[in-house]
Amino acid sequence: MQKSILILGACGQIGTELTYALREKYGHEAIIASDIREGNESLMDSGPFELLDATDYNALEEVVAHYEISEVYLMAAMLSASAEKFPMRAWNLNMNSLFNVLNLAKEKKIDKIFWPSSIAVFGPNTPAENTPQNTIMEPSTVYGISKQSGERWCNYYHTKFGVDVRSIRYPGLISWKTKPGGGTTDYAVEIYHKALTTKKFTCFLKKDTKLPMMFMDDAIRATLLLMDSDPEKIKIRSSYNLAAMSFNPEEIAKSIQARIPDFKMTYAPDFRQEIADSWPNSIDDAQAQSDWGWQSEFDLEKTTGVMLANLDQSAAI
Ligand code: NAD
Repeated sequence: MQKSILILGACGQIGTELTYALREKYGHEAIIASDIREGNESLMDSGPFELLDATDYNALEEVVAHYEISEVYLMAAMLSASAEKFPMRAWNLNMNSLFNVLNLAKEKKIDKIFWPSSIAVFGPNTPAENTPQNTIMEPSTVYGISKQSGERWCNYYHTKFGVDVRSIRYPGLISWKTKPGGGTTDYAVEIYHKALTTKKFTCFLKKDTKLPMMFMDDAIRATLLLMDSDPEKIKIRSSYNLAAMSFNPEEIAKSIQARIPDFKMTYAPDFRQEIADSWPNSIDDAQAQSDWGWQSEFDLEKTTGVMLANLDQSAAI
């Protein structure tokens, strides 16, 4: 039977590109995009779309039955910076949407789940350099607490009920097709937009705040690779560490200045500095490499080249 996939939160930064990639791979009609709001024009025009609240179990169950969905990618969530402002809303959205999807799989209404975790599961007591897969995890943010709890529930549903749930701890993601949605690494997207327009940018993190980052193409490729892997290769059912590059604001500014010499960067750290300070500087993803063959393709130089070229072109259209 033709595989039918539902994406929850399809209009966000990752969901939009994931929808394009899955439609390319499995055919446009097989991929049902859904969100509580409409997405950009090209997403809305590229295949089926449902307005759907991921926290509403009955509505979700109906869509799953209607389209005979076999896999769900749960991308709906409240991200780190927004979650600090609305803790209970973040907890309710991040946890209830996950329980809904896990319970659908437990009841055998779907076969497979992708749910993203984050480097926010780590905290100030975690070793910051080359953070191992298994280590101290004492997250100090609302978002991190929800992701860490989510990881434990994924592992629980797999162990107790055999649910095929797969997960990646995404680092900060950099993309040009869709803007980011309220995270602590959003500066690393905004900076490229500003470099091409006003040629100046005020960064909300200090210049030496090094964080793990990844270009969107790498993140999407990793997601599809993990979901395509044989189940016996997936040794970790909480969430996999994943890495590509690590840099601080001063380093990304320099990589832009190599192409736009009059670009100017200033610094005005805000509440997001404290969130960033609690996260790792770099990630050890050896287990993702050995279990399912992960290898990143984008470093900072390549990312800057692709970001500036594509944003410049899309502005010119
Ligand atoms: P985003 O904020 O850009 O998109 C989230 C989408 O979910 C939005 O389109 C929003 O409208 C939708 N949404 C909100 N409430 C909903 C609800 N009740 N029902 C259905 N949809 C709802 O987020 P993103 O950056 O695309 O992140 C997707 C996932 O990846 C999240 O779980 C996030 O925690 C995780 N993640 C993202 C990053 C990153 O750098 N972007 C890093 C680590 C992990």
